[in-house]
Amino acid sequence: MRSNIKLGKIHGIEIGLHYSWFIIAALIVFSLGEHFRQVNANWGMGLIWTAAVVTAALFFFTLLLHELAHSLVAQSRGLKVNEITLFALGGVSQVQDDATDAKTEFWVAIAGPIASLIIGFGCLAIAPHLGWQGSTKPHTAVSGVLFWLGYINVGLAVFNLIPGFPLDGGRVFRAIVWAITKNADRATRIAARVGQVVAFLFILDGIWQFSHGAGFGGLWIAFIGWFLMDAAKASYAEAGITASLRDMRVSEVMTHDCVTVNRGMSLQEFVDTYLLRGGERCFAVEDQGHFVGLITPRDVGRIPRDRWDSTTVRDAMRPLEELHIVTPDTPVLDALKLVASNDVNQLPVIANGALQGVVSRSQLVHLLQVRSELQLPAAYHPPPKDNVREMRSRHDSTSREDSESVHGAGSWRL
Ligand SMILES: [Zn+2]
Repeated sequence: MRSNIKLGKIHGIEIGLHYSWFIIAALIVFSLGEHFRQVNANWGMGLIWTAAVVTAALFFFTLLLHELAHSLVAQSRGLKVNEITLFALGGVSQVQDDATDAKTEFWVAIAGPIASLIIGFGCLAIAPHLGWQGSTKPHTAVSGVLFWLGYINVGLAVFNLIPGFPLDGGRVFRAIVWAITKNADRATRIAARVGQVVAFLFILDGIWQFSHGAGFGGLWIAFIGWFLMDAAKASYAEAGITASLRDMRVSEVMTHDCVTVNRGMSLQEFVDTYLLRGGERCFAVEDQGHFVGLITPRDVGRIPRDRWDSTTVRDAMRPLEELHIVTPDTPVLDALKLVASNDVNQLPVIANGALQGVVSRSQLVHLLQVRSELQLPAAYHPPPKDNVREMRSRHDSTSREDSESVHGAGSWRL
């Protein structure tokens, strides 16, 4: 969930809106306007719609406070928060890293509902002093707004405390299971399964209500259930992957076979000599023995064909400064996150200032596929290799004379 409209930053956290937010905002304004009109016949049209718009705006603000509570607690426990996005079904705080302990998970998850409960009961406590006289009697505009704001926030807290992962309540539940079992991945799987059951009940309830005349409200509940079901399924699958890769390092999956290409070579020559022969996917560009960048078929594809003769490898390559670099000790999970979040195909693996090889998106995907095809238990790990092997090259066997630009990568220095 990415925001389409940026509203600014609070405490280093980007605040944004998704377009779908406007659907729910319009819905809130119209249903509130309708309600105010029915209960308070003495209010003028101007006051009714002003009160509806102000209530919706304040609801937006309190929803933001709910998300900020999650985010600020996450920050205080050392997690990095990138963004808060408000959308049709509420808000999402994008916390970059997963909580490293059950306690952190618990407090981050429960902070939002606690904030909503405080806001909700606060509004409900103040409303009677400003002229609220029960839900069916006329009251002042300010008390009407406060009452509904209080009601919506208590509702928001209660809804979020339902133990359906990935709702807040599901995360609290996961944290408790985590604390008991001492196993984060297992806790996620259990919480995600319970989340699927809860989501299924939502869908059933929505359909039941719809068939008994609840109309749009019933469909809405079913829709929320469908959304939760999807999220719980994804969380379950992700937990399996995370568990199986947790202890693996980049050194265990990276390719050592890289071909060196001279930076001054034309793209045409590069395509004819390397890309259309041999099956290598890793081409390191060097300048006087120094590793300066990577070039992939994708980079060549960006240059129009009629310019291949006049363009050098250096002009088309991805320079070292723009590459995301990993070390042989980087966890595979972190490499996977880097590849996914930056949409890159290859990550150079660097140790002691020298290129050791690359780890590619296709290798990582292959690894995941093989694990799922073999149905290996999450706990299965191949025995570790002795250590990071010296960089080999398939071209080592060719004679040195004709391989000036084709040799092992062990000699590249940064
Ligand atoms: Zn929340």
